[in-house]
Amino acid sequence: MSEEEKAVLAKMASLLKSGATMLDKLCPYCSVPLFRLKSGEVVCPKCGQRFVIVSSDEEEVRARSALALRSLEQTVVERMELLRDELARASSPADVYEVGKAVMILLQILETAYRVKTLAESHPGKS
Ligand SMILES: [Zn+2]
Repeated sequence: MSEEEKAVLAKMASLLKSGATMLDKLCPYCSVPLFRLKSGEVVCPKCGQRFVIVSSDEEEVRARSALALRSLEQTVVERMELLRDELARASSPADVYEVGKAVMILLQILETAYRVKTLAESHPGKS
C-alpha cells in the first residue's frame, strides 16, 4: 500500500470517527467514496473537494445558484479590497471619482444578484 493510500484510509477513518457517513457515490476526480459530514456537507477524503448532492433538477438549479452567488459575493469582496487600496493611493479628485464609480458598479452587480435570488425564492418551481 502506498503512502498516499495509507493517508486516504487514515482520513476516512477519522471522518467515520467524527460521525461522517460513507456514501455509495465516488469522487469524480479520485474515484474514492465520498463522505457526508454531520453538517450535511459532502467531502472527498482524498482531494478534499466539497460536493453538493441533489435529488432533483430544481434542487440542482437551487444549489448551483447558491454556489454562484457565494462566488460572486467573494469576487465583489476581493475587488472592493483592491479598490480600497486604490483609493488610499488616489492623488486627485479624478482618481477618487474613478474608484467611486467602480464601487458603485460592484454594488449594482450584488444588488442585481440579490434581486434574482429573491425572485427565484418567490417563484419556486418555475425556474
Ligand atoms: Zn477527490
